[in-house]
Amino acid sequence: MEDLIIIGAGPAGLTAGLYASRARLKTVLLEKLAPGGQILTTDFVENYPGFPEGLSGFELVDRMKRQAENFGLKVEGKEVIRLELTPEKRVVHTNKEALETKALILTTGASPRKLGIEGEGLLIGKGVSYCATCDGPFYRDQEVAVIGGGDTAVEEALFLTKFASCVHLVHRRDELRATKLLQERVIAAEKVNLIWDSVPTRILGQAGVEGVELRNVKTEELSTLPVEGVFVFIGYDPSNDLLADLPFDFDDFGFVKTDDNMETSIPGVFAAGDIRSKMLRQVSTAVGDGATAAFAAERFIEGH
Ligand code: NAP
Repeated sequence: MEDLIIIGAGPAGLTAGLYASRARLKTVLLEKLAPGGQILTTDFVENYPGFPEGLSGFELVDRMKRQAENFGLKVEGKEVIRLELTPEKRVVHTNKEALETKALILTTGASPRKLGIEGEGLLIGKGVSYCATCDGPFYRDQEVAVIGGGDTAVEEALFLTKFASCVHLVHRRDELRATKLLQERVIAAEKVNLIWDSVPTRILGQAGVEGVELRNVKTEELSTLPVEGVFVFIGYDPSNDLLADLPFDFDDFGFVKTDDNMETSIPGVFAAGDIRSKMLRQVSTAVGDGATAAFAAERFIEGH
């Protein structure tokens, strides 16, 4: 039996793993993909304290992983397919085995929200993208559209100006949601064309993106923006498939509710990072969640 299983190797999971390993809990961290989570899709992180020059998302998470492993954390590449959770017993079923654990921390994160419009599904990977770091270099000297007005859309639009000849930032209101500093940068960026009060209604093309149809929400006018790439950054949905049909408390958007100690409504099961219902989803808040969850899990194990 494990003391602690952590599911998901983003910043929250790796931090929980670091704390649990230092507490000498017999811990395993399971990750179906490469360790890192969402932050791997971020080119440059400049608001994680302690790195005044900033660093890449890859480097930050690689440092976190090495630090946790230095204290003995085992990170295993296994996909969890089912959870069996009762107040008395916690069993994690992977594609290879069933692992019983005294406590469990869920750090499965979130994934980019889709627009749900015609052409989007057909053209994913053929011009429709949710990751500028991954796909930006394909659009050298081409025009692209970025959809969204939050921090992600603005940061990624700025990143795309390194490659694209013009980045059309399409936002559904006439004011950006992004942090003021990012707003200032994007408004000053020569290669960014801001398109206000507009939503995409259709992505055009068959073998590749040829354009995006936009609707002005004030005038109801339709127009076509000829672009070769469409980058969608309209927020995130919780990666909660594993939790369906289990008696967790969820918020209205499907994120898991916890108490201040990161404990969910199921005893001995904790949640940390982007999967958790909370106000601010950042690397810095994920690592705080992860540390608290590991500490609370240790207390739970001691008490049982
Ligand atoms: P977000 O803050 O939820 O913003 C989503 C944006 O997409 C909003 O501007 C929203 O418009 C728009 N939107 C939502 N649904 C839409 C739809 N169906 N059609 C068109 N537009 C739609 O998401 P995010 O930018 O991904 O950020 C998520 C979290 O990560 C935030 O807490 C953010 O601060 C954080 N983050 C931080 C950094 C950083 O600190 N450097 C970087 C990236 C992300 P409205 O504004 O009208 O709602």
